[in-house]
Amino acid sequence: MPERLKDLETLSRGLDPGAEDRAALWEATRAYSEGFLGALPEAPAFVLKDRPGSGLADFPISEAGRPFPQVLGTLAEHVDGVGANGASGRHLAFIPPSSLFAGALGDLLAAITNRYAAYFFAGPGAVRMENQVLGWLARELGLPEGSSGNLAAGGSMAHLVGICTAREAAGLKAADYPRACVYLSDQAHHCLVKALRVAGMCEAPVREIPTDVDFRMRPEALEAAILADLRAGLRPWLLVPTAGTTNTGAVDPLEACADLAGRHGLWLHTDGAYGASFALTGLGKAALRGLEGSDSLVLDPHKGLFAPLGLGVLLTRHLEPLRKAHAFQADYLPSPPEDLEELSPSETTLEFSKHARALRLWLPLQLHGVAAFRAALEEKLLLARYAHQRLQAMPGVDPGPVPQLSVLAFRFLPRAGDADAFNQALLQRLTAQGRVFLSGTKLNGAFHLRLAILAARTHKDQVDEALERLQSEAAKLA
Ligand SMILES: *Cc1c(COP(=O)(O)O)cnc(C)c1O
Repeated sequence: MPERLKDLETLSRGLDPGAEDRAALWEATRAYSEGFLGALPEAPAFVLKDRPGSGLADFPISEAGRPFPQVLGTLAEHVDGVGANGASGRHLAFIPPSSLFAGALGDLLAAITNRYAAYFFAGPGAVRMENQVLGWLARELGLPEGSSGNLAAGGSMAHLVGICTAREAAGLKAADYPRACVYLSDQAHHCLVKALRVAGMCEAPVREIPTDVDFRMRPEALEAAILADLRAGLRPWLLVPTAGTTNTGAVDPLEACADLAGRHGLWLHTDGAYGASFALTGLGKAALRGLEGSDSLVLDPHKGLFAPLGLGVLLTRHLEPLRKAHAFQADYLPSPPEDLEELSPSETTLEFSKHARALRLWLPLQLHGVAAFRAALEEKLLLARYAHQRLQAMPGVDPGPVPQLSVLAFRFLPRAGDADAFNQALLQRLTAQGRVFLSGTKLNGAFHLRLAILAARTHKDQVDEALERLQSEAAKLA
């Protein structure tokens, strides 16, 4: 046995490189990262390939390991060299991601020090950091002092936490679900219905409230639906307005929603995954009036605060149902002290063993200061207005609704032929070129192009290039 142990130790120590080996790994990683960042200004925003990434299969996980340069080469070619570039300023599709350099450093440091951020006893600093970020966000969004929540892996996960909290607050049991009505607009994100399903609440009736010409939920239609459900003996439970829809960036009438929720006893859970971060700016605050009336809300720092992918936030003013829905005690855990002033993430979500997720946002905020974030967000709002003005001035273009936040949906109107087919063909050409990456959607049944301005590296030049390419490719197609 001692012999075997010695051999095993030698082998297992290979997992933990010493300073000299680390120096080579650092240097190669730094060179890779700098190569990537240095190439970004000219790198494609999208790379269209046959069977993208399939070359990874030629590099199976091996028993012996491989030299680092070979591993990085594989990464460059088969992962970072295909599909959408999540760091490009010409990524204008869906809701674009960014990843600030400081956020990446936060992730790296969190992984190296590996602080356990689920439980105060083990990771007091990491837990306090999460709570500091949550408290700061809650204040920025106008929630009352003492509000908090959970830093989740994304908006969809944060919505699941919100739905479980709202269910707890209403005291709903399985037998109540077929009567527990949910209200959202016909523009709401699909992840809400998915979260209801995952929460085991498929039976809850979901009312899709129609929207107005600006794609905002119509409050009179909402009230009519609530009253009809009350008359039918059902129990209106959850109202989910969207503060910035994916399709057009529309903001539902949040003040009217808060009023209706208050009068009829619904939990107001606002989907601000895309839009809520704009509340850091004066312009955004005006567009998001009423957000602060939410019982709970979701925002995605991996969208609107330029964090690396994997960060969504649930905020709520009601900590009791949040804890009741998620806290647990077990024999192998130290019991929390009675007077503990810090909420532990293990009490506010399903996750238990988790990394110090806050560092990817806390570090950039500490390093750059909030003012830089406010400026970047105001820049995106103004860029959207600027792009809309340019589209308005283009002949043969329906510029679509005036952007309420930073998403535009518009379409070219060809002189002849089917407009849907024309715009789809235009989008395909741009995607194949790869310089600018846009996406499409259907509005009132008609195919529209979308320009979503939120990537940290999207500035006026990138917007100009996208508009100019759209115009010149459209001319070629016509
Ligand atoms: C992105 C988005 C979501 C889903 O969030 P993920 O972070 O992608 O899970 C929900 N609602 C809206 C409005 C979004 O833009």
